[in-house]
Amino acid sequence: MKLHHLILGGIVLGCLAGALLPQAWLPFFDTLGELFIRALSMVMIPLVLASLIGAVLSLGDPRKLGRVGLKTIVYYLVSAVVAVSLAIAAANVVKPSRFFSAERRVKLEAEFKDKAAARIKSSEKAREEFTVWGFIKRTIPKNPVAAMTEDPPDMLAIIVFAVLVGVAASLLPDAARKPFADFTQSLYEVMLKLIHLIMLAAPLGVFGLMARVVMTLGPEILLSVFAYFITALGVMAVHFFVFYPVTVRFFSGMSPLAFWKGLRDVFLTAFSTSSSAATLPLSLKVVHENLKVPMPITNFCLSMGATVNMDGTAIFQAVAAIFIANVYGMDLTLGQNAAILATTVLAAIGTAPIPGAGVVMLAVIMTPIGIPLEGIALILGVDRLLDMARTVVNVAGDAACAVIVAASEKELPA
Ligand code: ASP
Repeated sequence: MKLHHLILGGIVLGCLAGALLPQAWLPFFDTLGELFIRALSMVMIPLVLASLIGAVLSLGDPRKLGRVGLKTIVYYLVSAVVAVSLAIAAANVVKPSRFFSAERRVKLEAEFKDKAAARIKSSEKAREEFTVWGFIKRTIPKNPVAAMTEDPPDMLAIIVFAVLVGVAASLLPDAARKPFADFTQSLYEVMLKLIHLIMLAAPLGVFGLMARVVMTLGPEILLSVFAYFITALGVMAVHFFVFYPVTVRFFSGMSPLAFWKGLRDVFLTAFSTSSSAATLPLSLKVVHENLKVPMPITNFCLSMGATVNMDGTAIFQAVAAIFIANVYGMDLTLGQNAAILATTVLAAIGTAPIPGAGVVMLAVIMTPIGIPLEGIALILGVDRLLDMARTVVNVAGDAACAVIVAASEKELPA
């Protein structure tokens, strides 16, 4: 049996267990799911370090590294701007707040008050530091070890550190570079092996995660913010089913079907874990093996993309910010919409690739525009479902970029 059959089985059985078993099972499902996510997250930092340093070293020629780096960043930025523009347009046209009464607002505010307060609290530091200059400054870590031990780890700083170490190592003479390159390669392979072992437990982990989602999500909540939910999901679907396949087809000639089929295990894992970081190990393997993107480009684009490229998250953040503003009676001006565009593109880059992190950065986007932060309570009830969807979009974007960059370097087999 193939992995995606087993994961799919875990998803279906998890949904059934969550719907049929009593609440007393929740701690068990919660533990099962958390163990799986923690095991995958455990590998994230050494994996990103080894894969990025290794990628930079094997790209070799600094001109090639510059080219690949530039193309990757341009694709990630353009796709984020397209995603957020679509989201802003949809949120303003559909105006999901129209279908939302004041009573519901009061009810949801009361129900999710504590959870919202916790998210707002964790966004405190990011909100204080969130200026363009602060953002740029933060990319260079004063202390890379501290960046790794923060919770969640400061992935942006870790990426920059890894790329710089790779560049420095590639400038060394062979005698000094080779042992380091061999060590990095070996560390990378050890991490992949570890992930392989962890993925053997994926069906069980996914079972626990899905059972928890179903158990903690009531249908009333979903109905009460249905218009918002559908608007966000609709834009994500357009980005996933139109933007990625069209750009992949146009720039690489790969058929959308081959693209989606090659990535199905990745999508299922992203969907059930809601974490780009937890999905990264599998994406690295699958994009190389199924989509035939050479290792250095796969590793470069995906290790960077897991943190930097989050179109699904950006779509959610823009729709949620506008929805909440409208519910609180704010009609956003063109300038405010433009501010949402700019801050969302940056905030999505700064969002940690873990479950629920998008909401923390949502607070960062809302603050400069003056949207009431307590409004986060309104969207929390359905956030896990949207998180699952946006994580699928996030990882699809990373893979699309890897395919396009490889094709543009003429390194994709015909
Ligand atoms: N869960 C998302 C990811 O890991 C981040 C977020 O939007 O919360 O890609």
